[in-house]
Amino acid sequence: MGTGITGMDGTGAAVAEIVAVGSELLTPGHIDTNSLYLTGRLNDAGWEVHRKTVVGDGLEDIAEAVRTALGRSRLVVLSGGLGPTEDDRTRAAVARALGRTTSRSGDVLDRLRRRFAERGFPMTPINERQAEVIDGAEVLDNPHGTAPGQWLEDGDRLLALLPGPPRELRQVFEDGVLPRLRRLAGGRRLAVRTLHVTGVSESELDARLAPVYTSYPGVGTTVLAGMRHISVKLSRWVDAGAGGDSVEGATPAAPDLDELSARIQAEMGDAIFSTAGETMEEVVGRLLRESGKTLAVAESCTSGLLGASITRVPGSSDYFRGGILCYSDEAKMRLCGVAPETLAAHGAVSAETARELARGVRTALGSDIGVSITGIAGPGGGTDAKPVGLVYIGIADGERTLSRHRVMPGDRESVRERSAYLALSWLRRFLL
Ligand code: AMP
Ligand code: MG
Repeated sequence: MGTGITGMDGTGAAVAEIVAVGSELLTPGHIDTNSLYLTGRLNDAGWEVHRKTVVGDGLEDIAEAVRTALGRSRLVVLSGGLGPTEDDRTRAAVARALGRTTSRSGDVLDRLRRRFAERGFPMTPINERQAEVIDGAEVLDNPHGTAPGQWLEDGDRLLALLPGPPRELRQVFEDGVLPRLRRLAGGRRLAVRTLHVTGVSESELDARLAPVYTSYPGVGTTVLAGMRHISVKLSRWVDAGAGGDSVEGATPAAPDLDELSARIQAEMGDAIFSTAGETMEEVVGRLLRESGKTLAVAESCTSGLLGASITRVPGSSDYFRGGILCYSDEAKMRLCGVAPETLAAHGAVSAETARELARGVRTALGSDIGVSITGIAGPGGGTDAKPVGLVYIGIADGERTLSRHRVMPGDRESVRERSAYLALSWLRRFLL
């Protein structure tokens, strides 16, 4: 949406983009993580990131990326290429893009010399390159490293040059860049509400929600299906007041987001398991604690994944008794008391075995509730009647024993992970 003012979007938001410099980031071995951190912090400070570029160490490649970015965004944040070696060319490239020169800063040189002396290392001539400052730039102190950052204003355009190592980048950004950006954004911040949904498909969810969220055109709504659950994210830029630094941290108030969130919850009911970032294992743990019940698990095809996710939650010893990895038929019989006749008649992957496992582990470990998982993770072992991905989950308490099954998509690891998650999700329903 054009407004005639370049560098601002249709809502008047401050538009930023990120240029991550480093040839290693274009190989399979390295990933640009700095931009993930930067995007979150920029949003917090009222800046919307419209583009990210990853560019190698070539001088003209970097200069061109900077020119292009400056043509469409008010703020360009660069990461990397500020080291002392020949392939660290960000300073020179930005200077070229702006048509400026660089010069060696006496102050920065002194600081570098002191830093090396303190650590007892000789300073080599190549380190002097790190004292090159683009004309008109402000030097940003880097307490964790030798490469200082730089802040530049060019007409109405803003540039930040940050060192690549993540710890250094964060510190320089927090100290030297963020306070300026908060002021420049005039208190704008991104308000976000996230709802986690389970037990419905993405298309069903969207069909039910679209009539609701389309009546809030000012709210950005994204429905994102992950391997575990679906997330619905509602967001909108808000004017949190021109308080600058004082608004940091707190979730910005946004009554329309809260209203839309409440309407979505009314539509989806208990398919929504979390609205405050709680994970499924945390929700299950909370429900167990609230009901005063204890849990034990019998895991065949997942062999520990379910127990591991339950015990990821601190304090899970309050309700989790333990688990049995009953991978073989032998283990199912000996440790969980599954009858040989059941295995012979129905097989290890069956509703009957799942139920006996859930009952058996409950008895073996003396818990109120037993949960079991038995399935075919693949890639081998599937038949027409029992395909790869078929998983049975059993749940037993003193009164009821239930089982359900589903055919999970994906490879072995994904079948295993989805199965552990589904067991948690069904346990949640059982507890509700
Ligand atoms: P540089 O400032 O280009 O010399 O980068 C130094 C080191 O920082 C690299 O070897 C990487 O380990 C790390 N690094 C650079 N850019 C990034 C990035 N975008 N995300 C994560 N790490 C990075
Ligand atoms: Mg580099």
